[in-house]
Amino acid sequence: MATALVIGTGIGGLAIAAPTRTDPGFAPAGGDSIMALAPVGYIDERKPQDWAALRQRAREAVFARLKDYGLSDLRERILFEETLGPQEYRDQLNPAKGAAFGLSHNFTQVGYPRPHNRHARYGNLSFVGASTHPGTGLPMVLLSAKLVQERIGREQG
Ligand SMILES: Cc1cc2nc3c(=O)[nH]c(=O)nc-3n(C[C@H](O)[C@H](O)[C@H](O)COP(=O)(O)OP(=O)(O)OC[C@H]3O[C@@H](n4cnc5c(N)ncnc54)[C@H](O)[C@@H]3O)c2cc1C
Repeated sequence: MATALVIGTGIGGLAIAAPTRTDPGFAPAGGDSIMALAPVGYIDERKPQDWAALRQRAREAVFARLKDYGLSDLRERILFEETLGPQEYRDQLNPAKGAAFGLSHNFTQVGYPRPHNRHARYGNLSFVGASTHPGTGLPMVLLSAKLVQERIGREQG
């Protein structure tokens, strides 16, 4: 289990995980590994965004924020760095519009308007996962699977 810290920045909150605190196997001996998650938008073909510039901006925000926490020489110490953004998510994992968290929980995408767990026409087709009910994030995704499994169990007796 990773330790995570959510800290505010000019680009919104950052989630920082430092898994070597609890599992030294996440870095070579004497080293460390840090994951920083910065919220960004999704790929919208009608409103192209400069992802290279956004990536750079997010990267700088991470360094600036970690410097506030005392990690002033982080840049010089990096041995390996990888950044994943909406384009990598789309190309490697296939989420719609590269939205790693699926449909957001805004007004038009929660409650009844959110895609239901059962197909409207094909009653024997069910959906689980972040973009259906109840919503995104691992606890909700697991709950989604549990609810669907329970319903199928009830209906099949
Ligand atoms: C960087 C990051 C950090 C996160 N941190 C947290 C966290 O700390 N806590 C938390 O609760 N949630 C977190 N989340 C969110 C959480 O990971 C997601 O909400 C959850 O994984 C969504 O589950 P899912 O099953 O709907 O989709 P996914 O986990 O995305 O699974 C979908 C799977 O379907 C596969 N797939 C796609 N298209 C096809 C196809 N055509 N054929 C076959 N397979 C296909 C994909 O490769 C993928 O394996 C995080 C997400 C990201 C990106």
